[in-house]
Amino acid sequence: MTKININDMLTSYDKKNLTICTVCSHSSLQIFNGARKEGFKTLGIAVGEKRKYYDAFPLGKPDEFLIVDNYKDILKCTDELRKKNVIVIPHGSFVEYLGPDQFMKLELPTFGNRKVLRWESDRKIERQWLEGAGITMPQEIKNPKDINKPVIVKYHGAKGGKGFFIAKTYEEFKRRVDEKQSYTIQEFVMGTRYYLHYFYSPIQDNAYKLSKGSLQLLSMDRRDETTIDEVQRLGSIAELEELGIHPTFVVTGNIPIVMRESLLPKVFQMGEAVVEKSLELFGGVLGSFCLETVVTEDLEFKVFEISARIVAGTNPYIAGSPYSEMIQPDLSTGRRIAQEIKYASKKNLLHEILS
Ligand code: AMP
Repeated sequence: MTKININDMLTSYDKKNLTICTVCSHSSLQIFNGARKEGFKTLGIAVGEKRKYYDAFPLGKPDEFLIVDNYKDILKCTDELRKKNVIVIPHGSFVEYLGPDQFMKLELPTFGNRKVLRWESDRKIERQWLEGAGITMPQEIKNPKDINKPVIVKYHGAKGGKGFFIAKTYEEFKRRVDEKQSYTIQEFVMGTRYYLHYFYSPIQDNAYKLSKGSLQLLSMDRRDETTIDEVQRLGSIAELEELGIHPTFVVTGNIPIVMRESLLPKVFQMGEAVVEKSLELFGGVLGSFCLETVVTEDLEFKVFEISARIVAGTNPYIAGSPYSEMIQPDLSTGRRIAQEIKYASKKNLLHEILS
């Protein structure tokens, strides 16, 4: 666990002159655009020459670039970045490219609570957190011989659903599984998927109130996953599997969505329970997080995953979503993050939202 002390890192900072910084990928256009709207300077870290692409989106382009040969080189640039009063906004690609261990050691003030990484990166520990909060998760099948309904097999550490497969029987599982990798077998929940984008502020009380601070629902999306989401253009999955063509779950994009309104109270109850449990376990999942859910035909939610930072599913909402529009016009998750930093800086509370 990191020994990084946020107060020590902030002592040298000019709080009136902060720079919002992230790695140029994932949700960076949104993060820079939101920071710009809130009056922050912005800095993008890029590997190789990416500037040309950002020229196409002037309002999502960072004011300044730091070009590195390799993401690991970011660690060598921390002195330089601290001089620019940089606050890092981590996203999924940031953590993946840098590597979780290096991310934990990064000596830069980072939005959110880095301790959450331990609780989300191991599926067993993640389950302790979510089930401990009273959340219903897909059943886990410990012994493959017990497979008696459709299951999804997830390899540990697989990025973006790569290599995941569906099996309906033990024989099918045996045929497909790569025993060299470690995996989890989960009930395949039948229903519709909703990826819920929350924002938890431990320092502001102007939304759905929690024991400390308050919770917002900024948007929701459905991931577009190749090939599973369009494979039916070629034939039924069963038909294709007979030919040895198996669906995959690789995320290629995100589709905006809204949910029937009667389900929204449950969405908030789940968010509340997850935050309250996180406060008890490790000091809280601060800022943006996403519950990845399936809603069954009985209108029950099953949560198969949590992402504890800004997710790319918020990208359709750079100009706001049907939900954030009822909080403030033109409010993206990127902008909400910038607002939180601005508010905390003004009230001398940066240590409450950074780690
Ligand atoms: P994950 O890496 O856990 O986010 O899973 C990748 C994708 O697999 C998800 O976006 C869903 O489309 C699908 N998926 C994961 N778990 C389940 C489940 N238990 N039941 C149905 N679909 C699932």
